Parts: sequence; C-alpha cells; structure tokens
Amino acid sequence: MIKFFKSIKALLEGLFTVFKHLFKKSVTLQYPEERPNLPEKFRGGHTLSGCIGCGICQQVCPCRAINITKDNNQVVSYTINLRQCMFCGNCQYYCPVNAIKMEQNFELGTDSNDDLIKELVKENESGVDKQ
Ligand code: SF4
Ligand code: SF4
Repeated sequence: MIKFFKSIKALLEGLFTVFKHLFKKSVTLQYPEERPNLPEKFRGGHTLSGCIGCGICQQVCPCRAINITKDNNQVVSYTINLRQCMFCGNCQYYCPVNAIKMEQNFELGTDSNDDLIKELVKENESGVDKQ
C-alpha cells in the first residue's frame, strides 16, 4: 500500500513539473527556421580584409591552424584549418590592423575534410558571403 501512495506522489510531482513549464517561454528554437540571437562577441567563421602579412596571428595561434604564404611581401594565400582551430579568438585579438575577424557564422559543418581548410584570400577576392 505504501508503494502505491509513493507511486501516486511521484506521478503527481511529475505532472506538476510538466504543468509548471507549460506556460513558460520556450528556451529552444525551431532551427533552422528560427535563428538564434548570438552575442555580439560570438566567435564564428573567419573573414580577412586588409591583411599586411605580419604573421602575428600565426604566432599566437595555439593550434597552428593558420598558414600564410607571401610573394614579394604580398599575401598570396591565407588558410585557416578549421579541423585544428578551436575558435579561441587570439588571431582576431592580436591582429594589429583588424584584418582577421571572426563573424557570426556558426554553420561551418561539412561532410568534406577539404572544405574545412578555408582559403581566406581567395574567398575575399571572390566576394564570398561574410554573413
Ligand atoms: S581562433 Fe584561435 S585557434 Fe582558431 S585560427 Fe584563430 S588563433 Fe588559431
Ligand atoms: S591577419 Fe592580421 S595578424 Fe595576421 S598576418 Fe594579417 S595583419 Fe598580421
């Protein structure tokens, strides 16, 4: 008999918990139809503009994810390997000319390993959407 009352009590507690949350605002989103409001300092995919090729970002990157190639002091290739990047933001923080920026783009998933190596100079030249 005691077991029976314990079960009823547990059931009522469960129902009460459900009822309590019934009228609260939902904390989940119907993604992708609904988009999240990301914090201003959210660190997503990188974009590059006006890089002077100083290499500071490469030095401060703890994951060695950045690779810069220069020709006659011109940056001809700037790649970030997103398989290695941990989105710490050091590259953005230490860039002396604010050339590298981490945008609000978080949809970086892909089924191809090669797509995770981002060539930012070419993306910049081809006007790839910066989001
Ligand atoms: S966010 Fe951090 S880990 Fe990623 S490339 Fe920049 S410095 Fe490296
Ligand atoms: S992105 Fe900034 S820190 Fe990195 S090489 Fe270019 S100018 Fe230097």
